[in-house]
Amino acid sequence: MSTTVRNYVGGHWLEVPTGASVPFHNPASGAELGQVPLSGASEVEAAVLAARRAFPGWRSTPAPERARILFRLKGLLEEHREALAVQLTTEHGKILPETRGELQRGIENVEHACGIPSLMLGDTLEEIARGIDTATWRQPLGVFGVITPYNFPVMIPLWFWPYAVAAGNTVVLKPSEQDPLTHQRIVELAEEAGLPPGVLNVVHGGREAVEAICDHPGIVGVSFVGSSGVARTVYGRAAAAGKRVQALGGAKNHLIVLPDADMDATVDACIGSIFGSTGQRCLAGSVVVGVGAAYPRVREHLLDAVASIRVGDGLDPETGMGPVISASHRDRIRTLIGQGVADGARLALDGREVTVPGREGGFWVGPTVFEDVTPDMAVAQEEIFGPVAALNRAASVDEAVGMMQRSRYGNACSLFTTSGGAAREFRYRAGISMIGINIGVAAPMAFFPFGGARQSFFGDLKAAGRDAVSFFTDQRVVISRWSDVSSDPHHPRQNTSP
Ligand code: NAD
Repeated sequence: MSTTVRNYVGGHWLEVPTGASVPFHNPASGAELGQVPLSGASEVEAAVLAARRAFPGWRSTPAPERARILFRLKGLLEEHREALAVQLTTEHGKILPETRGELQRGIENVEHACGIPSLMLGDTLEEIARGIDTATWRQPLGVFGVITPYNFPVMIPLWFWPYAVAAGNTVVLKPSEQDPLTHQRIVELAEEAGLPPGVLNVVHGGREAVEAICDHPGIVGVSFVGSSGVARTVYGRAAAAGKRVQALGGAKNHLIVLPDADMDATVDACIGSIFGSTGQRCLAGSVVVGVGAAYPRVREHLLDAVASIRVGDGLDPETGMGPVISASHRDRIRTLIGQGVADGARLALDGREVTVPGREGGFWVGPTVFEDVTPDMAVAQEEIFGPVAALNRAASVDEAVGMMQRSRYGNACSLFTTSGGAAREFRYRAGISMIGINIGVAAPMAFFPFGGARQSFFGDLKAAGRDAVSFFTDQRVVISRWSDVSSDPHHPRQNTSP
């Protein structure tokens, strides 16, 4: 049944009167699931107004009380975990074990944000000069905008808004227009957990809503995740409007395999990295570089193992890889595969014509493997964001690292080796933000910061970890002297005893 998604403003679910909307689909069948309204500046204005009104009351709600609401939300997310996972698979396409994993990572961020009474503690130094003390107080700033992509529609919004509201801010969230339903359910659960009206607001839409968020003078900061071009634009536009911004962009991640690697474990890790979530992850491995004798071994093991990946509906327990998000994304991936062929890469496995019997309307691309790829080819440089592996050869670790460093992205990379020395040297020189050693996906952990380098990240403070608390608060430094005490002759300070 098709549904029209509504905005959530000041605790009310509102229809958007503009009339303009875009459809979103079940990617495994192609069936329309609903319409997302394309909000404009006036809907953003209404949400910012609600968020600004809610801010003083929410800010003065004690931090432990704010944390308790999030703690109740964590319980509700756990209680509804399975229904949320099924909903997420239905609108995104990734297989159930992957949606369960995404939910778990999302819940961990809510859990981490529950620690806000400790995370927000300031610093103090007594007697910084005679009779003078200094302290920092972390204070919330007001209304934050949060703009998120389609590929982790549960987890990525939870990288931001729980920390923002835990710290006492209020939020306007603009989720992806391609899979809005599961997070809408999470917002309902947040309401049930007791989050007061106006603390979290949701505005649906696309570019116009994003631009209105970047420009609005009532928004103090923006957290963005999406493709690099949009991340760069959002970063520039919101910063020009005086906001603090963290903008996470795209990726092209290299998996480098040394000849001494444990080949079975390495190939398992590479396959999970490349084809997990049908390659639609900013941490997905995409270029596999076999160093020296590693190349033929990786190639052989990988092609054997990939052939057995079963493509299908993510709700079917037998399925190993689901569809991609949309027909247009499928077509873009097919075009990039065609480009690889035109550039001279050899297609060892071609997923372009894969389809699933009984599900012919779904958005399918099968596992695809290119070999003899050279670093200048589009398949080695462009973010494909689909189930496509490019196999490169390198004569040495230096050459492999050089290939990786020529990429304009710097999100993640992995090294597979049994040598501690090689691993240490790699960590030292990689110049990439998230590094896996014998790990295919350098996964985001709530307690650590998350974000890339180069064109993969624009900003300073990253998502999650302690950075989240810094991004969503300002440190106010208070330096104080109380002359009434120091001049009181009966005060202990006038005596010599400690
Ligand atoms: P996208 O850039 O198309 O969209 C992201 C958000 O920006 C959405 O909310 C969308 O509505 C909005 N948007 C799209 N075009 C816009 C425009 N021209 N102006 C203003 N706003 C616009 O990204 P996507 O396709 O939803 O997600 C996939 C991308 O996100 C990939 O590039 C992937 O690598 C990246 N990503 C990065 C990370 C990370 O941590 N670095 C994590 C997840 C996804």
